[in-house]
Amino acid sequence: MTDRFPKSLLIDGKTLEGASDGAIELTEPATETPLCAVPAVGEKEIDQALQAAQRGFAQGSWSSSNPAARSEALFRLARAIRENCERLARIEARNVGKPIGDARWEINAGARCFEFYAGAITQFGGRTIPVAKNGFDYTIRQPVGVVAAIVPWNFPFLMACWKVAPALATGNSVVLKPASLTPLSALALGELAWEAGVPGNILQVIAGRGSVVGDYLTGHPLVRKIAFTGETGTGARILRQAAGDIKRVSLELGGKSPNVIFADADVDAAAEAAPMAVFANTGQDCCARSRVLVERSVFDRFSEGFVAATKRLIVGDPLSEETQVGPLVSSGQRETVERYIAIAEEEGGKRLVGGSRPQSPGYYLAPTIFAGLPSKARVCQEEIFGPVACILPFESEAEAIALANDTQYGLSGSIWTRDIERALRVARAVESGVLSVNTNSSVHQEAPFGGFKRSGFGRDLGVEAMQLYTELKNVYIDLSGGK
Ligand code: NAP
Repeated sequence: MTDRFPKSLLIDGKTLEGASDGAIELTEPATETPLCAVPAVGEKEIDQALQAAQRGFAQGSWSSSNPAARSEALFRLARAIRENCERLARIEARNVGKPIGDARWEINAGARCFEFYAGAITQFGGRTIPVAKNGFDYTIRQPVGVVAAIVPWNFPFLMACWKVAPALATGNSVVLKPASLTPLSALALGELAWEAGVPGNILQVIAGRGSVVGDYLTGHPLVRKIAFTGETGTGARILRQAAGDIKRVSLELGGKSPNVIFADADVDAAAEAAPMAVFANTGQDCCARSRVLVERSVFDRFSEGFVAATKRLIVGDPLSEETQVGPLVSSGQRETVERYIAIAEEEGGKRLVGGSRPQSPGYYLAPTIFAGLPSKARVCQEEIFGPVACILPFESEAEAIALANDTQYGLSGSIWTRDIERALRVARAVESGVLSVNTNSSVHQEAPFGGFKRSGFGRDLGVEAMQLYTELKNVYIDLSGGK
């Protein structure tokens, strides 16, 4: 099949096939061969896009429109995404190295995100507050203005949808900047949005190098809100950039999530599920449960099951239907992960499985499990963002909680137990924005998603996300008639 890749930036209703920072050459991670190139914006194109976004916002045909009109456009876009699922999934599989089945799931989840906010916006409003006998007090929600949405390379399409859908639904104008490794699906999303009737100055998509234009974009006076997903270090930098004119900021950052298995759990089910809880998306997942904490009495049984299930994973060509784990996104990312494997060995870790590259081309790396490391070891503390897990034993519930919280992050995690009281106690005690019990699946469109501690603040998904893209205004009307 010949794939059609988007080549143009989408700025102010026009497509741009060249830009002032040259081109970004993309490589296919599964083959290490050139894929295509897209233009890279400089400050000139950022000014152009932000001025158009500001004009579009101020003009009001989107920001002040009837929510039902925005809802209709977003439903049309969701339909277009579903109709183009195969093309978008193949773009994602080839650009990111994501298994095609996972890529299809991601595209459909993106469509669902637009459907959710297309519906939710018609029910999103203020409230009346009983403040005084002779007065009427009410709140309204208003769009913030120009939103810069900046997303990473691990779930490029879905992260873009998580930002763009609630921002558009609530009436903002958006400039979307995908990661420079993976700009294609965001550009394709922009094309579909324009075709679906989203105005060309209300959603614009630029590609550009964060190291070149990131600070200019996030410090730009026309940006009123930054919606960011990416590394904690980049998030901290963005926060500093935003401080000058008190821009609104929401940050979805890194993670080092625990998978806590108590002896009273269905240990075999937990062991069977554990590999995909950390190795899905080749471990390049902010929610990856890479700290696997197991009650001592079932440690050996669980470890054997976890290793056996990991060996059964099908690692291979992202375009093959059977593949569960593809390559890493880039050679640089694979080298980073290999450095962590070397560090784990230097720190005395025992490698139970994995750790090697295959001979064939592609940025592949076998899923890797270490045991015998203390919680303070670097590989147990730092986000590796690759297929590496550590197993640590614990003796008591208190120790399990202490270990789960022994990280600077607090994004996600799982608890496996058949004791409901324990599940409730531990879920309350673990410092994390998202937790699941007896499953490793904790992300749902309808429910809020985001982090504690250095995993960020603000929430994507659910009705909560719409709050991030709106200002809350309170109005009081005096009804006393001067009496
Ligand atoms: P990253 O390096 O922080 O990049 C994220 C985005 O920020 C990219 O578009 C990048 O552009 C841009 N960027 C880089 N420097 C910038 C700057 N100075 N100002 C503004 N933007 C800048 O993160 P990544 O490596 O792409 O993604 C992996 C990280 O994302 C991991 O830490 C992962 O945990 C996190 N993540 C979190 C969630 C969550 O929901 N919490 C979800 C997915 C991923 P370039 O690509 O051009 O550098």
